Amino acid sequence: MPPALMTPLSELVLGQQFPAGALYIVATPIGNVADITVRALHVLGLVDRVAVEDTRNTSQLLSRYGISKPTIAVHEHNERSAAENVIAHLRNGERIAYVSDAGTPGISDPGAKLVDAVREAGFPVVPLPGASALTTALSVAGAWVHTFSFIGFLATKPKQRDTQLQSLLTHTPALVFYEAPHRIVETVQALERAFGGERQLLIARELTKLHENIHRCTLAEGLTWLSGDANRQRGEFVLAVEGAPQKEAADNAHDALLMTLLEELSVSSAARLAATLTGASRNALYTRALAMDRRAANKARTIRNEAGKRAGQ
Ligand code: SAM
Repeated sequence: MPPALMTPLSELVLGQQFPAGALYIVATPIGNVADITVRALHVLGLVDRVAVEDTRNTSQLLSRYGISKPTIAVHEHNERSAAENVIAHLRNGERIAYVSDAGTPGISDPGAKLVDAVREAGFPVVPLPGASALTTALSVAGAWVHTFSFIGFLATKPKQRDTQLQSLLTHTPALVFYEAPHRIVETVQALERAFGGERQLLIARELTKLHENIHRCTLAEGLTWLSGDANRQRGEFVLAVEGAPQKEAADNAHDALLMTLLEELSVSSAARLAATLTGASRNALYTRALAMDRRAANKARTIRNEAGKRAGQ
């Protein structure tokens, strides 16, 4: 039975289709229990059972809305095998909802493999939108995150994390990360080391909760802000970092192209071909190619001299 909603709200879902034998992917709040949609409550009240990332967590949440349902555990470590169980219930014509611990399933949370398996088995998968830390943070970030790439959690090993960040150096859309409290300081330091101090940084902490903080500064100022009060390092975090400046990214891409072309061609031929391929100014490319060629020649000369000195010793 659907939960008892205030009549005008429950009327909003009246007449809508909620087919049987379907999986409903339901977003839940990321901290504020009131951030759930009318349709999510209706579906959670309607389904035959709820597949959950963590039984205790979700049962507590559902009880806040007066809903109690049989559950199926579907978490990171059993997602594929548990999917078979879900599919067996769908074959019996049941409606099943999937709920992760918080926010939108499949976004740095289990859910995606379940969706694949259920769709492959031929059953409909119905999304019910709602809270996500990603969209909540971006909604208050401002115009500089107009385009963005969601990275989620960085690798936990420092070397892998730094390699990951290096690969994003020339990426022009803003970058959005999730981070846990015990790594927040280290991650902000790594971001500044990788991208320099000038780019914009948004630190969105404990979104929708009592101690919510939304702080915008530069990467150089991030650590100072976090260190200003021990409480600022607690809780859950979304970080958004401004993307690489367009010109810098274009220059890096042109240099990579010119470097390859200079292995086979003269400076002027490399600049001419690069201009045709990229549409950039031939003169500007010639200047860059010449500088690269001179640097390469100087390096080769130094290596030859040093080898000569060693041979003469
Ligand atoms: N599926 C969730 C979503 O839609 O955002 C994300 C789940 S992921 C396991 C948990 C991470 O999301 C946290 O470590 C944190 O980085 C981010 N997060 C979740 N809730 C948050 C909140 N209230 N404020 C800031 N970040 C949050």
